[in-house]
Parts: sequence; structure tokens; C-alpha cells
Amino acid sequence: MSKFLLDKYKDLVPYTPGEQPKDQQYIKLNTNESPFSPCEAVMKAIENEVPTLKLYSDPECKKLRCKLAEIYNVNENEIMIGSGSDELLNYVIMAFAKELVFPDITYGFYKVFADVNKVPYTTIPLEEDFTIDVAKYVAPGKMIVIANPNAPTGIALSLEKVEQIIKNNPTSIVMIDEAYVDFGGESAVPLVKKYSNLVVTQTFSKSRFMAGARLGFVIANEELIKDLNTLRYSISPYNVNSMTLAAGIATLENEDYTKSKCLEIIKNREYLSKSLKNIGFDVIPSSTNFIFAKTDKIEGEKLYLTLKEKGILVRHFKSERIKDYVRITIGLKENMDALVKAIKEII
Ligand SMILES: *Cc1c(COP(=O)(O)O)cnc(C)c1O
Repeated sequence: MSKFLLDKYKDLVPYTPGEQPKDQQYIKLNTNESPFSPCEAVMKAIENEVPTLKLYSDPECKKLRCKLAEIYNVNENEIMIGSGSDELLNYVIMAFAKELVFPDITYGFYKVFADVNKVPYTTIPLEEDFTIDVAKYVAPGKMIVIANPNAPTGIALSLEKVEQIIKNNPTSIVMIDEAYVDFGGESAVPLVKKYSNLVVTQTFSKSRFMAGARLGFVIANEELIKDLNTLRYSISPYNVNSMTLAAGIATLENEDYTKSKCLEIIKNREYLSKSLKNIGFDVIPSSTNFIFAKTDKIEGEKLYLTLKEKGILVRHFKSERIKDYVRITIGLKENMDALVKAIKEII
């Protein structure tokens, strides 16, 4: 740490991203990326954008917002675009959170965003089976953040229960992080018209093959979006680059491709879950592109390390309640077969 770092940042513990090894020797099942590449039209769209790189990108992201508005049946003024949804989660917290509330087991970034913005937070323990008891989420004046489906558990909350939380907290912003919604969750986007305290974020990183392009969006009522834009235009008006915008539009023009690949991942997820159960694993029913599983035959960390030696990367978390588990990203069927074969050899 340099002597110049401001006191207010001295205790900051940054987010730890999953490993991104540069040699391609691993079967990479650790950061919930898609095993599929974007379709041809996306490659073409990026290429066509190269000559325009001399100009600034569109700060309004108008075309992409219009396309999203069509697909999600909202007004384009109810959408703001971000460089990944992480950026948007931060803007929402920065703009609206005096205090934060989120589950004890969830996406690790919420705590970091709270800390960097000097927003105090409290966590609410998930139930024994890792589900959310919505009755525990009554927090007047505090922002509530729920990943739905949740990570790293993979468990989805029904739309009815999400609505209950929104209704029970009319004086709070409720932010629903739908990074994994396309793999089996129910989106809260249709509720945006009904509730002025609801904010929904989604991303192109998981179901739309674009983790490296950095693209996400937030949907909320027009007034909230205006507030978020005030912050965005005060920090980074050209937050999304032209190639990524073009890629995003081309992806949305090929929704059939996206949907068929999501179905394939869901199929592979069920295949892997069954295969792991057959060899004695507890597998939590997942609505995402990963599964969270444990076995009493080997500790979570040991399994992670041994699989790594065998060239397969999965994710392990050290925190007490989930240290027995590993989180496995769903890949191609052949990846799933290789994983099961390796696990059988280990145990
Ligand atoms: C992956 C993920 C995100 C954000 O991803 P971006 O790449 O920044 O869009 C947000 N929330 C959860 C729960 C995630 O798993």
C-alpha cells in the first residue's frame, strides 16, 4: 500500500475473481461462462464496427435499449446499459443505498460494493436448505439485494415470493440480480410497471456468450433510470464501447440461437446432476448454468485441488457454511463426461 492511498480505502478488501489461467489446458468450469461462442452474426457486427472506433460510442446506447425494450416489453426509458452488470449493481447501490441487506450466502460482490461506497450492510442467513424465507426480508429504509436465482447455490425464488419482498418494503429499493434468470428462473421485469421501488439487473455474460465483451442492463421505472443516468454521466458516459454495443445488438437479433444454447446447457445440467447423484453426491436443484454439490467422500477444497491437478477447474468457497461444496459451471456434454470420469478416479 502506498502512503498516498486515502484512509477511507485502507481497509478495503477487493472482490476475488475466479481464476482465469492463460494457458488453455484446463477444462474451465469455474466462472460460469458459456461454453458456446457468439454466433457468426456477432463476429460480423464487431468487424463492421472497427472503422468507427475513431468516434466515441453512443452514450445513450439507443439501438440496444430499443431492441431490449422490444424483447422485454418495457419502454426504452426504463433501461440503462452498463459495462457488465457489476458496474450497474454499483451504480444502484451508489445512488440509492443508505444501508444494504442481503443473504449471508450470495454473490460476493455485494459486500465489496457496500464497503467501497461506505454503506453499512447486514446479512440474513439462508435457511438450513439454502432457501430464502421472504418473511425475514422486511427492512424499512434499507436497500435489499437478492440474486435470483441465487449464486452459488443455484436456487431460484418464485416470482410470487419476489413480489412479496417488493410489497413488504415500499420504502426501500429492492434490487433483483437476474444474472442467471435465462436458465430457469422467473424474471421480475414484468413487475417494474407495477412497483416503483423495483430494480432488475441482467447480463450478457452468462446466457448470451459475452462475458469478455462486458455488457449488462438494468430495468426499472423511468425516474430511477434517470437518477442512475445522472451518476453514469457524472462518471463514465461512454461506459460501453462500440464493438460491445454492436455485438449486443447482433446477439439480440439472434434470440433463437441464445435460446437453443440455453436449452442445451439446461440439458447438460440435468445430465451432470444425475451422473453426480449416481456416485453419491448431494446436488442442490439448480436453475442456473452451474450446480452446487458436495459428497462425504471428499472435502470440497480437496476435490477442487485434485480436479485442478487433473486439468479441470471448478470453484470452491472457503466460508464456513459452504466449504463442503464445489460449484461447477455447466459446459459441453463432453466436458461433463470428463469431469465425472475424473471425479470417479479421485473418490
Ligand atoms: C456473473 C454475475 C454477475 C455479473 O456479471 P457481469 O459479467 O458483470 O455482467 C452479477 N451477479 C451475479 C450473481 C453473477 O453471478
